[in-house]
Amino acid sequence: MSDNIYDVTVIGGGPAGLFSAFYAGLREMKTKIIDGQDQLGGKVHLYPQKMIWDIGGTEPLAAGDLIKKSISQGLTFDPDVVLNTTITNIRKEDSNYFTIETSEGEKHFSKAVIITIGGGGMISPVKLDVEGAERFEGKTLHYAVPDIMSFKDKKILITGGSYSAVDWANDLTPIAREIHIIYRGDDLTAHEAEVSRLKKNGVKIRTQSVVTGVIGEDNLEFVEIENKETGEVTNEAYDAIIVNHGYNQNNLLFRENHLGLNLENDFYIQASPTGITNVPGIYAAGDCIRYEGKVNLIAGAYSDAVNAVNNAKMYLDPKANKYAMVSSHNERFDEKNMEIMYKEEDA
Ligand SMILES: Cc1cc2nc3c(=O)[nH]c(=O)nc-3n(C[C@H](O)[C@H](O)[C@H](O)COP(=O)(O)OP(=O)(O)OC[C@H]3O[C@@H](n4cnc5c(N)ncnc54)[C@H](O)[C@@H]3O)c2cc1C
Repeated sequence: MSDNIYDVTVIGGGPAGLFSAFYAGLREMKTKIIDGQDQLGGKVHLYPQKMIWDIGGTEPLAAGDLIKKSISQGLTFDPDVVLNTTITNIRKEDSNYFTIETSEGEKHFSKAVIITIGGGGMISPVKLDVEGAERFEGKTLHYAVPDIMSFKDKKILITGGSYSAVDWANDLTPIAREIHIIYRGDDLTAHEAEVSRLKKNGVKIRTQSVVTGVIGEDNLEFVEIENKETGEVTNEAYDAIIVNHGYNQNNLLFRENHLGLNLENDFYIQASPTGITNVPGIYAAGDCIRYEGKVNLIAGAYSDAVNAVNNAKMYLDPKANKYAMVSSHNERFDEKNMEIMYKEEDA
């Protein structure tokens, strides 16, 4: 049994979770990281093609590249990784460790837990509510833009009026043949400047319009669109549809809340600015926490992670140093530094 008990289990494998796993390894804690998705990286997977400028200390980099680098860093000290596993409960039945329960009824055991489940928990895109739409999913019907170049010379329909929908339309303008955007409401809800850019880019905008059908064999051929104002229904040829109807949130982890964690709006943990929750042994980091001055940025997730890990370390070993030695002078990296230095010399 004791082999199965980890020093720390990180729930959520986004930027906060991956940096927590890295830092917990640095602090020599036996670490496990669990995520409900089939891949690590968190919400950054929603915008892999976008450039990120505000991380600090790095030139702008594509979100997809950040994911790769974050995963590589998160796995530096070989934490155990468990994917496709949604955590629904944390209990304390034994004074020495927590029991972490999954939606499939499995149990994981850990002396301390760091919760990094992001804002909204397990999120999933609101699907296009039209019969047969799932047949085209990932082929000609998309809920995110994984690879901009795959839309080259295509006639695209974007449905949704939010900032993201308008942003995608603007980003795809230089490469797509033609872009139409439809929205069920009266006005697009994106920033005025983005909507002006959309118009300048020649994107065709229709409000009060919804998709009512998708037609095609293997690939999408026609989209049926209804104008809600006039009731007119048209069948229009498109090469691809991008759907941006928002995201379903899921607060499974907090629904039963056996530990009695202090929550805000059922989705966020009220914690101290150093990630300490009202339950000793449970820490939190990243977008899932709320405290005065919290910054909901990737940069904020990193400092949250360091604090959460340091506090978890102190909880496990009250005599431990409150802070780790800086990485540039930390002997944990001696061997790895040699590998890097000699690799560079060989190259
Ligand atoms: C479109 C968009 C653009 C953005 N652009 C920027 C930007 O340019 N710069 C910037 O700094 N920030 C940006 N952000 C914000 C940034 O992505 C978030 O701040 C960051 O992802 C938060 O990291 P996190 O680890 O706290 O949570 P998340 O990235 O949300 O990761 C949480 C992880 O927890 C998992 N999880 C949730 N619940 C459970 C459960 N019950 N069991 C198991 N696993 C669970 C999820 O599957 C997910 O992988 C952007 C966000 C969006 C949506």
